Amino acid sequence: MPKEEINNLALRRALYYPAAEIYSNSPSGFWEFADAGEKIRRKIVDLWRKELVEKEGFMEIFGAQILPEDVFKASGHLASFSDPIVQCKKCNSLHRADVLIADKTRGVVPESLATSELDALIRKHGIECPKCKGKEFHEVKKFNMMMKVDIGATGNQVSYLRPETCQSIFLDFKRVYRTMANSLPLGIAQAGSSFRNEIAPRNTLLRQREFGQMEIEIFFNPHRINEIENFSEVENFKLNLFLLKEKGVKKISCKEAVEKKLVSGKLIAYCLARVQEFYKKLNISEEKMRFRQLGNDERAFYAAETWDFEVETDLGWIELMACNYRTDYDLKGHAKQSRQEMIVTDNNEKVLPHVFELSAGIDRAFYVALDLAFRKEKRGPEERVFLDLPVRIAPYIAGIFPLVKKDGLLEKATGIFRQLNSYDFDVLFEEKASIGKRYAKTDEIGVPFAITIDYDTMKDNTVTLRERNSMQQKRVKIDSLAEALWHLKTGKKSFEKI
Ligand SMILES: [Zn+2]
Repeated sequence: MPKEEINNLALRRALYYPAAEIYSNSPSGFWEFADAGEKIRRKIVDLWRKELVEKEGFMEIFGAQILPEDVFKASGHLASFSDPIVQCKKCNSLHRADVLIADKTRGVVPESLATSELDALIRKHGIECPKCKGKEFHEVKKFNMMMKVDIGATGNQVSYLRPETCQSIFLDFKRVYRTMANSLPLGIAQAGSSFRNEIAPRNTLLRQREFGQMEIEIFFNPHRINEIENFSEVENFKLNLFLLKEKGVKKISCKEAVEKKLVSGKLIAYCLARVQEFYKKLNISEEKMRFRQLGNDERAFYAAETWDFEVETDLGWIELMACNYRTDYDLKGHAKQSRQEMIVTDNNEKVLPHVFELSAGIDRAFYVALDLAFRKEKRGPEERVFLDLPVRIAPYIAGIFPLVKKDGLLEKATGIFRQLNSYDFDVLFEEKASIGKRYAKTDEIGVPFAITIDYDTMKDNTVTLRERNSMQQKRVKIDSLAEALWHLKTGKKSFEKI
């Protein structure tokens, strides 16, 4: 769906909107989420937690957002975490050099190109300043994206807002290993905010300065990368692999990917299969997803093998998760800088664990879920907009609507709301406006069902259960409502079978 449609809906229903929007000079790249938006976002994280963390027996942490300078000396971020920027000589505006070139040539420009190579490309393609159309630029410079914070009254404890959530996972590895695991492989996960001083935040939630990440670091013994207990579960699972130097996606089984050495081992193929299954639960179809293999010049500075999980949308292919084989880069760096031992014993072998990382964007998944769910239907003279969100990430499972407020209907509806709420269902109570307007509002934020309490309810204790997509309605006994919703929520039964 065009991003204007999605952004209009987002603003109309406060799904997301600019931070500090009442001040005209607020910096861009910061966003807020209200009610339905916040709930959808949280449920995406809950789904990730259920499917990729808890199901695998991984641990979860909640780390600090501000970490001392030494951490980022060790991680390499202070030296290497930078974007190439270029300034227009005429209007002084700043731009990402690689983005300017990519926009003009419609190709991929690796961030890692040397500044002199970028200078040459800017001249070669006659790049113009997007602001003033000027053609003269200063030389390309590297700009570090870390956000600095001074801690304490003297300000001499230099710290930084984390640019990725995973650093505290590496810092916490030893403690979690010793206290909770004592064996490899060990997966540690974290969901939270990260911060990058982007020069040009754009496309709303897709490039922000503060953004949500859900990351999993899997620590393993590199000599045992092929000893994966559950590999038989996925060996015939077909991965959508977009290999380097290939024109399109190939469906390749996990077994074949390992045998042909397309991946470094079974552990990696296993993880990719789980990732692909996870994103299918967000209603991303097989044809619109792929793992893009990254070449040497495209990978992040710490990665030996990278697969970007991408989804095709109206804005082109969007990366939702980077799957990085980080080797022992991180533990080795922190061991050296902190002078702490990171070696553990696995299978009677002293080993510095390697790491395979699943690094996903929360807000990107949120945006893509909206993009894929957006529906606009003509119904006679009227137009209907609704979000076809999967039940598991819908903000509420049902709206509860008394047809009118009089004759005891309001009290009856309130009772049903309280009951369903006590059973842990996310339900929305709305008694204002016409019933049609209430349906329209909940359709737009993706609520899959509506429960209407009318005069028949007062006679026979049944309600109308309406399905969002088909707008079909059926009568259901109040006593069996909770069970019906549970079946619909867990996918055990379809609406037709209720
Ligand atoms: Zn300019």
